[in-house]
Amino acid sequence: MDAIEGLKETLAYGCRVLAFAGQSDIIWGHVSCRLPGTDTFFMKAAYLGLEEASPENIITVDLEGNKIKGEAKIHSEVPIHSEILKMYPRVNCVVHTHPSNAVAFSSLGKELLPVGHEACLFESGLPIYSDTTDLIREKSRGYDLAKCLGDKNAVLMRNHGIVTVGTTVGEAVMTAIILEKACLLHLLAWQFGGPKFWTDPEEAKIKRVKIYGEPGSGKLDKAFDYYVRQVKIMEAKKEIK
Ligand SMILES: [Zn+2]
Repeated sequence: MDAIEGLKETLAYGCRVLAFAGQSDIIWGHVSCRLPGTDTFFMKAAYLGLEEASPENIITVDLEGNKIKGEAKIHSEVPIHSEILKMYPRVNCVVHTHPSNAVAFSSLGKELLPVGHEACLFESGLPIYSDTTDLIREKSRGYDLAKCLGDKNAVLMRNHGIVTVGTTVGEAVMTAIILEKACLLHLLAWQFGGPKFWTDPEEAKIKRVKIYGEPGSGKLDKAFDYYVRQVKIMEAKKEIK
């Protein structure tokens, strides 16, 4: 398998890992990754669940959001991906999902506090996109969302979902999984009056690097590899049945 086919397979695994981790929302939610050295990217196709993504149904899209290769349909929210990938050369992968805990948390208007380790990954700030709760179908909205992301690794889209980014598929996917858990822990604490204690900002900075590593360090990819192994085991069991 050459590097490009390998990337397609990794992207498909990225989608299936998100589904495995509970971020499937019927046929909604999508992941993309840049084709290195080009103005194009691979993207999950529309009308399929995240768990149905495979190298065969991945489509190729340009940075203007036009499908240039593939039989399957393109998601209408493609500007989320095209505008972020266009604006930030540091980003190679974009995830957009509607995970329940993050969406519920986004409605509270509260700051995400490091109740556990997870929110430390967002210690430098978690931007909130609140221009609209509607779909991001227009380039102008995609551009505003990309601006909102800035130099951060995630955006909470109020009453809608999340966007996470990474230098690799593994980083962006793991950032989505970790953000959802951070929101879950926060919601749990709020069921009992809200957190009384949390990690202080200095310690959160240290923990972010110690546990999750800097972008490009490969630490989050190791966690992603764990999830890929679990997905392979689950899929192998299904095949036997
Ligand atoms: Zn959406």
